[in-house]
Amino acid sequence: MIVLVSNIGSTSFKFRLYDMNGERELARGGAERIGSDNAAVKVGDKAWTGGLADHGEAIDHCLRLLPDPNVKIDAIGFKAVHGGAISGAVRVTEEVIRTMTEFFDIAPAHNPPYVAAMKAFAARLPKVPQVAAFETAFHQTIPASRTTYGVPWEWTQAGVRRYGFHGASHRYIAVRSAELLGCKDLRVISCHVGGSSSICAIEGGKSVANSFATTPQSGLIHNNRVGDFDPYALLKVLPAFELTFEQALQEMAKKGGLLGISGVSNDHRDVEQAAAQGNERAKLALDVLVESVRHYVGAYLAVLNGADLIVFTGGIGENSAAFREAVCARMDYAGIKLDLLKNKTRGKEETISADDSRVRIMVIPTNEELIVARQTQDVLAGGN
Ligand code: ADP
Repeated sequence: MIVLVSNIGSTSFKFRLYDMNGERELARGGAERIGSDNAAVKVGDKAWTGGLADHGEAIDHCLRLLPDPNVKIDAIGFKAVHGGAISGAVRVTEEVIRTMTEFFDIAPAHNPPYVAAMKAFAARLPKVPQVAAFETAFHQTIPASRTTYGVPWEWTQAGVRRYGFHGASHRYIAVRSAELLGCKDLRVISCHVGGSSSICAIEGGKSVANSFATTPQSGLIHNNRVGDFDPYALLKVLPAFELTFEQALQEMAKKGGLLGISGVSNDHRDVEQAAAQGNERAKLALDVLVESVRHYVGAYLAVLNGADLIVFTGGIGENSAAFREAVCARMDYAGIKLDLLKNKTRGKEETISADDSRVRIMVIPTNEELIVARQTQDVLAGGN
C-alpha cells in the first residue's frame, strides 16, 4: 500500500510518501509560505518557487514534483489535531469534517488548514480514501484524575477536559524506546520541544499524562503560543489594551511564547543568537522555556515514581545542546546526569546520559509521519 502522509500548518504543507511494504520512504517534501507570492516548494532535490494561493495549489506542485508523478497513491493519512469526541484514527467523512470545523475556534492554527487540505485532496484525488489520525488518540489512556478540571460538573459533562496532543510523536517515542532498550515495561518522559512543545509521561507504552490540555495553546510555552495561563489575568488585559475577548485569545495564539517574550522571533535559533549577543528578553524567553520543561519533568517524575528514560525530540530537543543541558542541570537528586560531551550530538539517535546516571537520557528524532502511515494502513485494513 502506498500512503501519503500530510502534516499541515496554516502556511505550510509537508508530506512523506511511504510504500508500507517494508515501510520504505519513497519521497518527502512540502511547501512553505502558502498564500504568498514567494512560496517555496521542495520535493527531494527538486524545487519550485512562485505564488501559491492556497493548500490546493501547494498539493498540485508537490504531486507534480514526485520522483514518479504517476505513482498510484492508495491512501492519504492526516496528522489531524482536534476532533473533540472523535479520537483515534478514522476514515475522513462529512461528519469528521463537520466536527473538525466545529473546533476551528479552539484549534485556530491547526483545524482550518487541515480541513482545507482534506477538501483539496478530495477534489484532486476523489477515489483515494483519507484517514485522520488525531493527535489526541495516544492520550486516551490518561486517567480521569489527570484530565478533569476543577470546574462546575456540568462543564465536565459537556466535554470540557484536558485531552493532550502530539500523540503521534509521543507514540513513536514509546514504540522506539521500547525497541531500543529491548523492554516494554518502561517509565519514559518524552520531551517533544519544537515549534509546538509538550511533555508526555509514558508507562508501559501508554500515555499517562501530557502537558497539553484542552487546546494546543496550553502547557509549555510554544514558538508563538502562550502555554499555561491563568484565564483571570484577562480581567486586566482586556481593558488595559482595549481588546475584545476574541482578540486577546488571538494575540495569545500568535504573539505569545518565544516570540512574545523575546520580541525577536518565534524561531529558537534566532532567539539563541540574540541571547548570545546580550539581548535580555531573548535570554528570558530561553529561560522560561527551560523552566516550563523542568516543571513538567518534575511533575512526571512524581507521576511515574521516577523514570527509566528521558527522551529529547522535536526541532529544539533534537538539536539544541544548550537547551538540553539547561533542562538537565541540578537534577542529580533524581538520578538524572547528562554527559556534556555526548550531549553535543544533533538530530540522531544517541544516548547522552553520563555512565553513572540512574536515568538514561537519549535524543531520538521523532517520526510522526510513520505512525500516521501505520494508523492509516490499519484503518483501511480494518475497513473502518
Ligand atoms: P514544528 O513543531 O513546527 O514541527 P520543529 O519540531 O521543526 O517544529 O521545531 C522547530 C524549532 O526547532 C524552531 O524553533 C527551530 O529554531 C528549532 N531548531 C531547529 N534546529 C535547531 C538548532 N540547531 N538549534 C536550536 N534550535 C533549533
